[in-house]
Amino acid sequence: MAYHDTHFHLDLIQSPEKVAEEIENNRIYTIAVTNSPSVFFYTEKIASNKKYIRAALGLHPELAAERHKEVDMFLKLISKTKYIGEIGLDNSNKAPSDYQLQKKVFSQIINACADEGDKILTIHSRKASKDVIDIVGAKFPGKIILHWFSDNLKELERAIDFGYYFSINYNMIHSSNGRRIIDRIPIDRLLIETDGPFTKINGQLSTPISASLITEELVKYKNFRSEEFEKENLHENFIRLLK
Ligand SMILES: [Zn+2]
Repeated sequence: MAYHDTHFHLDLIQSPEKVAEEIENNRIYTIAVTNSPSVFFYTEKIASNKKYIRAALGLHPELAAERHKEVDMFLKLISKTKYIGEIGLDNSNKAPSDYQLQKKVFSQIINACADEGDKILTIHSRKASKDVIDIVGAKFPGKIILHWFSDNLKELERAIDFGYYFSINYNMIHSSNGRRIIDRIPIDRLLIETDGPFTKINGQLSTPISASLITEELVKYKNFRSEEFEKENLHENFIRLLK
């Protein structure tokens, strides 16, 4: 059985080199997101000789205002990788001017990715999913993964209609809001993420090694509703995402 983790932060995890080795040994396909272009080089270096780790170029929305000058670097690096993230919008506890700047940065990134055509994007949308979906739109030429979606069901339905994928983590399976969201997502759009080290499982900061546990829990949860959902279905979604 193969597992995947489409959203974790290798550079922020304790002992990245050791975790990278564990990922290889356990054969977990991973997308290692970064929070700014200056960090991308670090993660890319670790990933360069690894089979199971893909480095993603990112500019986290909560850093977008402070580091918007890195947008130029981002745009220069964009052709170096198929994987983009963490990018997006965050409208929780943000000054309106900060949020406006986030939108400007995010739109620039989305336009540049659309020009390139075949990117796989992992996107943050906390309290901002309407704007994220408005900016990405229905005809984006790459693949969109909404990571840790937590907004309302109306926007969720729109994202489903637009063909987006959704990466599900441990916290989502264990919260009522998360479960309400998981209930609505078609099984062929579900992916697994750990968002390590930003989630904890049994008191431990998570790493991609937890992908198997999350997969098992998600399958068990979804099977209350549907009989024919298997672990393999989740990995097939991941394979389809890459094509
Ligand atoms: Zn993240």
